[in-house]
Amino acid sequence: MRQRDDQIHDFQVFIDGKWTPSASGQTFESQDPFTAKTWARIPRCGAEDVDRAVTAARTALESGPWAAMHPTQRGLLLRRLADLIARDADHLAFTEVRDNGKLWAEMRGQCGYIPQWFHYFGGLADKVEGAVLPIDKPDMFTYTRHEPVGVVAAITPWNSPLLLLTWKMAPALAAGCTMVIKPSEFTSASTLELMRLVEEAGFPSGVINVVTGFGAEVGAALVSHPGVDKIAFTGGEGSGRAIAKTAADTFKRLTLELGGKSAQVIFPDAKLESAVRGVVSGIFAASGQTCIAGSRVIVHESVHDQFVEEFKKLASTARMGDPLDTATQVGPVTTPPQFQRILDCIDMARTGGATCVMGGGRATRPECGDGWFIEPTVFTGVTGDMAIAKTEVFGPVLSIMTFSEEEEAWRLANDTPYGLAAGVWTQDQKRMFTAAKKLRAGMIWTNCYRTVSYMSPFGGFKASGQGRESGQEAIREYLETKAVWIDYGAEQANPFVLR
Ligand code: NAD
Repeated sequence: MRQRDDQIHDFQVFIDGKWTPSASGQTFESQDPFTAKTWARIPRCGAEDVDRAVTAARTALESGPWAAMHPTQRGLLLRRLADLIARDADHLAFTEVRDNGKLWAEMRGQCGYIPQWFHYFGGLADKVEGAVLPIDKPDMFTYTRHEPVGVVAAITPWNSPLLLLTWKMAPALAAGCTMVIKPSEFTSASTLELMRLVEEAGFPSGVINVVTGFGAEVGAALVSHPGVDKIAFTGGEGSGRAIAKTAADTFKRLTLELGGKSAQVIFPDAKLESAVRGVVSGIFAASGQTCIAGSRVIVHESVHDQFVEEFKKLASTARMGDPLDTATQVGPVTTPPQFQRILDCIDMARTGGATCVMGGGRATRPECGDGWFIEPTVFTGVTGDMAIAKTEVFGPVLSIMTFSEEEEAWRLANDTPYGLAAGVWTQDQKRMFTAAKKLRAGMIWTNCYRTVSYMSPFGGFKASGQGRESGQEAIREYLETKAVWIDYGAEQANPFVLR
């Protein structure tokens, strides 16, 4: 098991290829969620740092080696970065665990998988094709070009900092954009560590910049900066709404990956043991701190009691403790405000009339030390009108509801403001395809849950966001289309009419 040291590590930001403190010289501290002690000091950037970073990104976009680089060369740089990440995956994962307290097993798995996105989008960089268009005008040659959208502001949350950054960075760079990255104030260290690899890979100065600090300060300055062309944001619904309003004022392009209240629908013909395992991993992995947490079970009334019993039996075996210990299965919550929010949601469920059948508060087991731990918690008797059925908890809290008719299951599953993901457990093939049509969510998992790939689009309906990350279509989010017309014919007969 990796060991923590007792030092406080000082970080600098990466702007225009140089390591630097914030312009004000101010810093803030980052705590380790397991020890609740400060382990890192991070520059507290503001508008001046944002301006420097955006100017560097703009310059790199419009002139210099990146602007002149052939897409094949860009692809090679991405692939080189992929290899360096694979080489240093242990170190990156360790940094993430110290910052967000998620399990070593999960973060190491993610850091080992991240290179695939850089390989995949590196491969796509020189396959962005325009098209020659058939056209109804005589003597006219028309074609389309796809050009980088420009300077991208990438704003990321604390739950999977590097993976969610990669989902933006790999397609944006493949498209030829330049970037200013703003990681969460709770988990900035791994993004800064990644910049060491960006430097080593040989990306030209200014192509990728990082500013750190708080959403209301550096984040707001970044999204309102006139030099930014596109915002790629992952985070909470409230921040997403504020950012979308600012983006509208300046007509910036926007992708949003927001929250969820995803349903897992269990039919009587499901393999119950598999469903139980899928629901446990959907809600208790990462202590429920994932946007795709399967936080609502909608189970057929005929198998409800058996499901709840088997679920409790498996969930109660969860080993809590130090996230760096490979034997740990449920780690702490990442931030004190999130910890409090989960406790508030548990109260909300109780006062709303749901029945707590497991957990229901702070975990005080000795192996949890001083960390911010919540017991895996299960509520039964939840109905669609309760606040807990609609509110994203972002913690290890499961709500269980029942249905009797298939149509009712689809209706309940869709009855939230969100539409990120859904799970369906059935052996009926016709129903699998019906589910894919009826469920209004960006990812439909059948007899599996919480699986992602660089090859498959990810994103939400409704309040879960707009746009898609991963898969071939993600690169389009970072491209503008230009229609080019070349008239090789005679002079226009009448210059005063549209041709
Ligand atoms: P958050 O919205 O508080 O913060 C996310 C990022 O936005 C941080 O870097 C923060 O500093 C910045 N920010 C906040 N307000 C801002 C503003 N006004 N202008 C610019 N930047 C601002 O979210 P969080 O608490 O870090 O993350 C949890 C949320 O993220 C959950 O709601 C979760 O569902 C969502 N999430 C979604 C996905 C997805 O892909 N759909 C993935 C992970 C997390």
